[in-house]
Amino acid sequence: MGEINEILRGVRLLNPLSGFDGIVDVALEKDRVKWIRKTSDDPSGLWLFPGIVDMHVHLRTPGYQKAESLETGLRAAVAGGVTCVGMMPNTTPCLDSLAPVIALKELGESFGLAEICPVPCVTAGRAGKVCVDFEGFARSGITCFSDDGSPVESDNALLEAFHSLALFDGVVIEHPEVTSLAAGGAVNQGQASKETSAGGIPESAEFLDVERCIGVLRNSDSGARLHLTHLSSPESVRLAYEASLDGLRVTCDVTPHHLALNEEAVIAMGAVAKMNPPLRSEESRKKIVEMIGNGMVTAIASDHAPHTVEKKDQPLASAAFGITGLETLLSVTLDILAREAGMKPIDIIRLITSAPAAILHSAFSDIAPGKPLNMVLYSPELQWEYSSTFSRSSNSPFFGKTLTGKVLRVWRRRELYREGEFV
Ligand SMILES: [Zn+2]
Repeated sequence: MGEINEILRGVRLLNPLSGFDGIVDVALEKDRVKWIRKTSDDPSGLWLFPGIVDMHVHLRTPGYQKAESLETGLRAAVAGGVTCVGMMPNTTPCLDSLAPVIALKELGESFGLAEICPVPCVTAGRAGKVCVDFEGFARSGITCFSDDGSPVESDNALLEAFHSLALFDGVVIEHPEVTSLAAGGAVNQGQASKETSAGGIPESAEFLDVERCIGVLRNSDSGARLHLTHLSSPESVRLAYEASLDGLRVTCDVTPHHLALNEEAVIAMGAVAKMNPPLRSEESRKKIVEMIGNGMVTAIASDHAPHTVEKKDQPLASAAFGITGLETLLSVTLDILAREAGMKPIDIIRLITSAPAAILHSAFSDIAPGKPLNMVLYSPELQWEYSSTFSRSSNSPFFGKTLTGKVLRVWRRRELYREGEFV
């Protein structure tokens, strides 16, 4: 065992796997936890929990590094307390073959920041027709696939993916969208489409695809896993949850912005609050928050989608979809789910750590003696203005706003980040 480098005193340790939630002193070696002792004196008011696993992140590499590079994206991740990112494949060219995916993972690792969990395409060219070489990826330990940005259009490709992935317990991460129903839309169909005169995207454009994918999975009789990402409609959540009760291996995630904002944000702020799926009605937002409180949603993920000013500073109809989210995920999620769903911090932390890690099959452990450092020190009370970013883009409706709860320090194998600076 190495020497003690530092002792964190009186921190509230939140360990999502064991359920431990209590005040402790934690002794750290350079790269691992040495010991943890319960204490009652002098609580610091700070929380310590495992690094966040954000399973839905766009690092924009290759092809759109004007908006984000691998390094800036991973820095934004760490500044937000995220130590593992699910890297989505809708780049240019898209990530549908092994060599570039491995090269990106290795380049990412060379920065010594957050870990990359690659999520290559389900179909070649993300065209929704012909499946990629799943087994080739699986031999390199890559087991999560998505055509994100688009659904897997062909039922036949989806069926083939389920049968292939079942062999190594892989997962299809579906971006649920009926493209013909969403075509031409920019905002929620309802109040937002009426008040902005931009095209509407109905909730049915999402939940009808959720229903289709669950139907294909059920009929495949494959035992495969389906994950439905960035759900915005309570009907989608209900369908996913009921399928899981039926014994199908269906999981889902929701973004922090769909919890914190409704369509009034896009009416008031314009394209900076334009994303796909769009912000929904207040009724839908509230319902989803309640469903999360009732344990019907598996994970929260940022859908971090950086864009240049040129692509966002446009009329609603032509502006790009998406907002950045890595640096605000923790504050926004903890705040909303504690306040509105009455959830305990440890249950919220589980939704952004061990739960997504289980879906991605990424290595995950609680904070425990002997374990490599992978943790976040967080001040739940601290108010801060989100006015600078490590991302190359700042297209966020939270940019310039005051948020409650701030990441103070982050460790992954060693200390990476301390109070606004990289160590
Ligand atoms: Zn998507």
